[in-house]
Amino acid sequence: MSESRFIRAGVMGWPVAHSRSPVIHKHWIAQYGLQGTYVQLPVPPERLGDAIRGLPALGFAGCNVTVPHKVQALRLMDDLHPVARRMAAINTIVVREDGSLYGMNNDGAGWVQSLRDADPAWRGDAGPALVLGAGGAARAIVVALLDEGAPEVRLTNRTREKAEALAQELGTQVKVVDWKDRNQAMAGVSLLVNTTTQGMQGHPALDVVLDDLPAGALVSDLVYIPLETPLLATARQRGHRAVGGLGMLINQARPAFHAWFGVMPEVTPALRAALQATF
Ligand code: NAP
Repeated sequence: MSESRFIRAGVMGWPVAHSRSPVIHKHWIAQYGLQGTYVQLPVPPERLGDAIRGLPALGFAGCNVTVPHKVQALRLMDDLHPVARRMAAINTIVVREDGSLYGMNNDGAGWVQSLRDADPAWRGDAGPALVLGAGGAARAIVVALLDEGAPEVRLTNRTREKAEALAQELGTQVKVVDWKDRNQAMAGVSLLVNTTTQGMQGHPALDVVLDDLPAGALVSDLVYIPLETPLLATARQRGHRAVGGLGMLINQARPAFHAWFGVMPEVTPALRAALQATF
């Protein structure tokens, strides 16, 4: 991709004003001195097809896709990365040279990288994991854990049927645990992951007790507003390593930026500071 070309990308969602993706991508555009922009693309669900099909004509290199479009957008792609196919959702669209649309999902890889940034020795096959929640983000996490060799993924959700549907689709290593048994299900795990909305600003804290969580277990919370959730604070008080959601947000953006702008960007303290200034 020629650096002299003006490159357009953005984030498509409904609503989209809350998205921090423009902060990340604009930071990198400036850092690498590129000619381009990254804009908000507020698109209601009933206009999604028109909007996505219009990307090549509008000269877009691609866009991110966020809530509530991640599943529907996948159906509009000409081609899919195999991981996106298994996640049954996309978070990135790349417009290829011939105008065809390629869908990727970098959420799982971004999350794994955020754990490795916090603990370079982290391994997905170190032991069972307990995943709380069975929404869109949980699907990405469970697929990533299986791809990293997790021997067992315990999956628990307030609405049990959603966890069961996910387990049925993703294989026998995924074991559904009733929501009321979530605390006891921590026994023997090497990783606890919150993928629910609990602990987010404006939501109550996640209702869990960590007494049965083994001392060496890593705690991951996908929530990044606030940066330090009650779950992370409690985990740290108990001596666990604890990783918030900001690293996932930043790391999932890297391959998308690379696909559009031709540069694999670095994660720097300046980028983290720019993001933290928006909270
Ligand atoms: P989603 O599809 O709407 O799923 C929400 C999940 O939260 C469901 O499992 C839901 O359970 C559960 N939940 C909601 N209220 C609950 C309650 N009162 N008690 C227990 N469980 C409750 O949302 P999502 O897209 O997966 O996002 C989930 C979280 O991940 C959000 O906080 C989001 O910001 C975060 N996230 C972070 C990143 C990142 O880059 N760091 C990326 C994606 C998502 P039910 O099925 O019973 O409703």
